[in-house]
Amino acid sequence: MTSPVWHPFTQHGLGDPIPLISHAKDAKLYATDGNSWIDAISSWWVTTHGHAHPRIMAAIRDQSEKLDQLIFAGWTHEPAETLAAELVRITPAPLTRVFFSDSGSTSVEVALKMALGYWFNIGEARSRILVLEHSYHGDTIGTMSVGERGVYNRAWQPLLFDVDTIPFPHEGLEQTTLDALEAACLQKPAAFIVEPLILGAGGMLIYPAWVLAEMRAICARHGVLFIADEVMTGWGRTGTRFACDSAGVIPDIVCLSKGLTGGALPLAVTLCIEPIFAAHLSTDRAKTFYHSSSYTANPIACAAANANLEIWRDEPVQQRIDALADAQAAHLSLLSHDRRVQNPRRLGTIAALDIVVADSGYLSNLAPRLIAFYRDRGVLLRPLGNTLYVMPPYCTTPDELAQVWDAIGASLDILGGSPG
Ligand SMILES: *Cc1c(COP(=O)(O)O)cnc(C)c1O
Repeated sequence: MTSPVWHPFTQHGLGDPIPLISHAKDAKLYATDGNSWIDAISSWWVTTHGHAHPRIMAAIRDQSEKLDQLIFAGWTHEPAETLAAELVRITPAPLTRVFFSDSGSTSVEVALKMALGYWFNIGEARSRILVLEHSYHGDTIGTMSVGERGVYNRAWQPLLFDVDTIPFPHEGLEQTTLDALEAACLQKPAAFIVEPLILGAGGMLIYPAWVLAEMRAICARHGVLFIADEVMTGWGRTGTRFACDSAGVIPDIVCLSKGLTGGALPLAVTLCIEPIFAAHLSTDRAKTFYHSSSYTANPIACAAANANLEIWRDEPVQQRIDALADAQAAHLSLLSHDRRVQNPRRLGTIAALDIVVADSGYLSNLAPRLIAFYRDRGVLLRPLGNTLYVMPPYCTTPDELAQVWDAIGASLDILGGSPG
């Protein structure tokens, strides 16, 4: 019997097995047939504290008995009010408004619409968006437009809008990036959107905090709105709650999703500064921010997010992050002189390296081969091309992490070559 399910980012023609998961707890996924896997990529970067955190599960149960769903246009509910107030409290003071949506992509779409809505409503025709090379912001038409173009979006290229791309700040070339941004800002674009400190899907590319701060300063000087897409970096991944925190950067617009509910339910927010809200505030209906999705601020999802914030408040989350970051550093350092790997790098809890490959034909087959190898060894890892990364939930035990890195070591051995 074949399943009618069409999976995302899955080439069904290759016939790879698709494990059927029945339950999950902490850092582990379990199948009914007795197999289990260490979730070393946090179920695609969403699970922060671990699967089925008791507090988040309890919050979901409790809320489901009170209010399941509510139209959010012109109506409100307590979980959303609590969450919005708390988000405003824990983010820098200039971020005063919270717009809800339901995924990282929609939070970015909202950010782009807010930026253009701002310029439109104040009567200045600005519509151009600046983006950073190798970025990823989602898979909807708008978010693909502001992301890296390539094999992942070739079919839809005719629908994507034009943007201006700023070169990625590779080591030693940071000034080139800053000069390009400065020049692009002179053309009066509407906004610049960035993934702060680390570009995720683009290959876990890390750049320094001072570059982020400098890019922010350039946008501020030219009055260009600065959008931080913290969908992946938010909620502790990079070592601080938000990546912008560690760079002392205050964006005009921030996108949050993935770990917002601890990874339990889909929810997203776009926070913005008061002038953007104010530009839409009017007795004129034409100035309304026309955006909504059916499940905007779903009460159960908001309750899960509130539980996440309580966990951040009451549990030693930062200590867990620091310990995981140290453990990742230790594992990574054991491979730092291995000739089969390049660019070992780490930011907070995220560790990454590039596997040295002789020819590009081999490269295209590498990721699927590795995924299968790890799957057979009880580890969920999903390399990006020849970039291998480990982004586990913060509850991952030292033993579990060692198993993940053992599997990585073994995979290098089967790929051939010698370590020294
Ligand atoms: C995952 C991701 C998105 C898209 O989020 P979805 O919930 O998958 O729509 C956007 N931006 C970044 C940086 C991401 O990592």
